[in-house]
Amino acid sequence: MSKDVPHFQNYVMCPYNKSHILLPSRLAAHLIRCARNYPSSKLVRCAFNNTHLYSADDMKTHLENCPDRLKSIKSEQMDSFAESEPKKFVVESAENWDDEPAAPTYNPLAHCNTACVIRNPQGVAPAERREFREKERKRLMAISKKTS
Ligand SMILES: [Zn+2]
Ligand SMILES: [Zn+2]
Repeated sequence: MSKDVPHFQNYVMCPYNKSHILLPSRLAAHLIRCARNYPSSKLVRCAFNNTHLYSADDMKTHLENCPDRLKSIKSEQMDSFAESEPKKFVVESAENWDDEPAAPTYNPLAHCNTACVIRNPQGVAPAERREFREKERKRLMAISKKTS
């Protein structure tokens, strides 16, 4: 029965006529000729491979699974991934700086540990520096009173 088509799985069926069994490499040429015999055919051509012909309803299902569409999506993703990777790295490290003060679990004690560090004045006379330190001590005492 399968004498004419010994390796059926290697052949494709013409979408216009299921008795047209062809080699995949000849399908494109066949479809152009065969389409003339079926001018009333409502078959829709797949945008990703012009040998994919389906009815409008079947085309919706086909487009979800079309191997050529999946192939093109894959290569698009690889392209954009390679392009955006260096940019993404920069954005991520910038985000980390912004995220830290706005941590959702705000702990006033932990905040004080960093805020209560005595600020080191630059380029001031020793007397002024002493005065500055005295002011800082008072400032820190005021902070610790407020937070405790
Ligand atoms: Zn045909
Ligand atoms: Zn397709």
